[in-house]
Amino acid sequence: MSLVTMLLSALISLMPGLPPLVGEDKAEDGAVTIELDDPRRQTRADNPPVLGPAGRPLVVIDAGHGGRDPGATSPYTGRPEKEITLELARAIRDELVASRRVRVALTRNDDRYLVHNERYEVARRLGAELFISVHADAAPGGDTAHGATIYTLSEVASDRQAALLAAQENKSDIIAGVDLQGQAADVNRILIDLAQRESMDASAEFARLLRREASAFFPFRPDYHRFASLLVLKAPDIPSILFESGYLTNPRDAGYIQSPEGQRQIATGIRRAIEAHFARRLIRTARS
Ligand code: ZN
Repeated sequence: MSLVTMLLSALISLMPGLPPLVGEDKAEDGAVTIELDDPRRQTRADNPPVLGPAGRPLVVIDAGHGGRDPGATSPYTGRPEKEITLELARAIRDELVASRRVRVALTRNDDRYLVHNERYEVARRLGAELFISVHADAAPGGDTAHGATIYTLSEVASDRQAALLAAQENKSDIIAGVDLQGQAADVNRILIDLAQRESMDASAEFARLLRREASAFFPFRPDYHRFASLLVLKAPDIPSILFESGYLTNPRDAGYIQSPEGQRQIATGIRRAIEAHFARRLIRTARS
């Protein structure tokens, strides 16, 4: 039982009449599952198909943007980010299906609009153990910025650019006119924060692993790991990253992230990191 699970159990026992949100212990890895009840949820996406061998851990790949939210636009090809992220998500899915080491599902497999909490709620409903939201970056100040960046959740942004990116990416929910901040009652917030703390550490560890495993396949920015308050990463109980695959505003990046070969390279790098992540976790479970 992890520290968070123990703290949750203690808190729950101290709080008679706790609202429907209750922690449930997953004994094998100490992960905590919390049922979030969000009465303000406007739509509920259908559960997508899960591919891969039964019993394997599930990874949910989220193609950023979609529908009436196009994301950034490539100045070189004029294509919207939402199309490129879907191609990348499918390439990653195909790579993971072929390796047969994990199960995989996509939050969307067509041009549909999903608000941020729907994206991670799909992952939570399916029992995902890793969540990767795929994006393509755009630098406002020209074409020099290039390489991939990994964002993990933090209430405080690591720098001004990370804060700007969060504002930009979080805009999707404003398009839908929903306010997803402050969705949980205060008492629930304490429980969620505890679980989130553990997920944030696991997410940061996965970010480092991804850079290590994937840098042979595609370039990363020198400051490849940044922190921001990104709504799509707010599943309290699933390690989650937002992966900016490269810059649509840089001609080289725009070329490889939109080419089948470049997308295959990105998928290979991500697949290797995912395999290393779960292999590492298996070793830890065996030792404990
Ligand atoms: Zn984006």
